[in-house]
Amino acid sequence: MMEMLFCYCCRVHHPKDQMRPFRTKQGYRWRCIRSIEAAACSRRERDAFGRQQTEINRAEAQLVAERLALVRVEQGFMPG
Ligand SMILES: [Zn+2]
Repeated sequence: MMEMLFCYCCRVHHPKDQMRPFRTKQGYRWRCIRSIEAAACSRRERDAFGRQQTEINRAEAQLVAERLALVRVEQGFMPG
């Protein structure tokens, strides 16, 4: 019978050949390859989302700044 190890991520036992030691704050824990890959994947997606959001925020800030500058010009006073 295949040796089973407890996966701290899924909280179930998986066959040992699917398990990898995974470093946590508490030390090494066994974790299945699937959960490690899923986490790595979602982290990449989060990073991509974060970058995208930063771009959007920057673009919006730029727009607001331009609009404000325009308003100031229309009202007849320059920034600074
Ligand atoms: Zn697992």
